[in-house]
Amino acid sequence: MNPSALLLERLGALIHQSVREDAARHGLLPIHVQVLGYLAQANRYSNLPIAIAEYFGITRGTVSQTLAVLERKGLLVKRPDPKHGRRIHLELTAAGTAVLDGSWAQRLDAALQTAGGEEGELDTGLRRVLTELQRLNGQRAFGICRQCVHFQGEPANATCGLTGEPLAEEQTGRLCREWSQAGGQGS
Ligand code: SF4
Repeated sequence: MNPSALLLERLGALIHQSVREDAARHGLLPIHVQVLGYLAQANRYSNLPIAIAEYFGITRGTVSQTLAVLERKGLLVKRPDPKHGRRIHLELTAAGTAVLDGSWAQRLDAALQTAGGEEGELDTGLRRVLTELQRLNGQRAFGICRQCVHFQGEPANATCGLTGEPLAEEQTGRLCREWSQAGGQGS
């Protein structure tokens, strides 16, 4: 096996273990913590049940069960879309956000800062690997809005070229299910 593949396999196993431990600490299943973590990053086009199914490669039934548990525990709320009647947006409550305090994602962020290296260099390599694996699996790419081929303008005054809608600055650093990479790779 390629040494990089071994490292990624080991990192994946460590992250899985951390997610399981985080979930157990809060009396949740790993998928519950993962969905909370996803929603904390997702933009307004992506905080939807269908996007969760796509992101994690799980069925809509599993998503419904997961959302029911998180809603019952007061960790998220469902808000109807003001423009699209049947569309429901999912938002973390303060309790849901608190579950993510000190979570594996924050520990990973800290480890990446400690490890140092050229800013963006690791991202570029990992993005290439991820894009190729997603292509092989037939999955949507998802990505950070500011790095999308449809992103127009500056973060403080941006527009989505796909929808034609203005983007609030805090949305431009979030994950989007409609993200596409320049050069045609992406969803
Ligand atoms: S610019 Fe791209 S990533 Fe941002 S909202 Fe539009 S489609 Fe999504």
